[in-house]
Amino acid sequence: GRLVGADADGEDQAVEAALRPKDLGEFVGQERVREQLDLVLKAARQRGATADHVLLSGAPGLGKTTLSMIIAAEMGAPIRITSGPAIQHAGDLAAILSSLAEGEVLFLDEIHRMSRPAEEMLYMAMEDFRVDVIVGKGPGATAIPLELPPFTLVGATTRAGLLPPPLRDRFGFTGHMEFYAPAELERVIHRSAGLLDVVIEAEGAGEIAGRSRGTPRIANRLLRRVRDYAQVKADGVVTREIAARALAVYDVDGRGLDRLDRAVLTALLKLFGGGPVGLSTLAVAVGEERETVEEVAEPFLVREGLLARTPRGRIATPAAWTHLGLTPPQQGGA
Ligand code: ADP
Repeated sequence: GRLVGADADGEDQAVEAALRPKDLGEFVGQERVREQLDLVLKAARQRGATADHVLLSGAPGLGKTTLSMIIAAEMGAPIRITSGPAIQHAGDLAAILSSLAEGEVLFLDEIHRMSRPAEEMLYMAMEDFRVDVIVGKGPGATAIPLELPPFTLVGATTRAGLLPPPLRDRFGFTGHMEFYAPAELERVIHRSAGLLDVVIEAEGAGEIAGRSRGTPRIANRLLRRVRDYAQVKADGVVTREIAARALAVYDVDGRGLDRLDRAVLTALLKLFGGGPVGLSTLAVAVGEERETVEEVAEPFLVREGLLARTPRGRIATPAAWTHLGLTPPQQGGA
């Protein structure tokens, strides 16, 4: 996979369990969500009730799965983990819901990608802790109502706006996860280094944090690649120098751009004078699919303020010229 990609690859899945914070106190950053969630959970515990349904929105790798596990742990409840795309039919959802224990947390990742019939079943389950199981087909089909034990749904989505309002409205609380500041990522990196027995200097952690695109999953992944390098090429200690050299080997630059990001930016600057240029033309110039440029490279470049999408096409910002060490052409020159 892509070293600076935010989705989990196989290696991430294997290591992430070991790196996950176990309670709200260990969870770095996201002060607002943490404070709000702390109140929701404490209040539910005091009432001896099941916590309200929680919706977590935010980019991949920001800690939504981790938070759902923390919610279960803080409530002393078991957790079941599944995802919208894994639920093809309403029957799949009925089977999961009817097997939940009282108070159990159901984590539904990518909840916006559930099928329509499953979504409708979920409305009723969330509100009344009840589902109608349809038995039989055609005119002879009957709906058998099934009582469910109270449970807490934790839904995760990249954007809350992707959810139909009736679903969104059934959550008692919505937490918006933000990208992490460099200082917060440094804390994540120090914590993970401790768990992985990696000796790391403050400047080494700073160097990795600056290249992690605001995302703990990426920070943890870069840390593992830097650890390999420190072990093979040096004495194992992660200094600033070692971190920078290691990530240069993997083509991740000082701001977290990888080869594709830089290819797009370089083409925009060198071939098109900084734009505006159409997406298709830009894609051809870097030998990639339109979708790859638009969905893989551009979001981060836009977020970093290096590229802007305008009605006339893509344009580079002054920061893009600076980042690549190039000089913009003179405006209105001879
Ligand atoms: P998501 O579900 O949003 O894709 P995860 O919860 O799977 O993200 O988190 C990805 C990785 O980043 C995990 O290894 C997790 O331990 C780590 N992580 C995420 N958020 C934090 C945080 N706030 N503090 C420490 N580690 C974090």
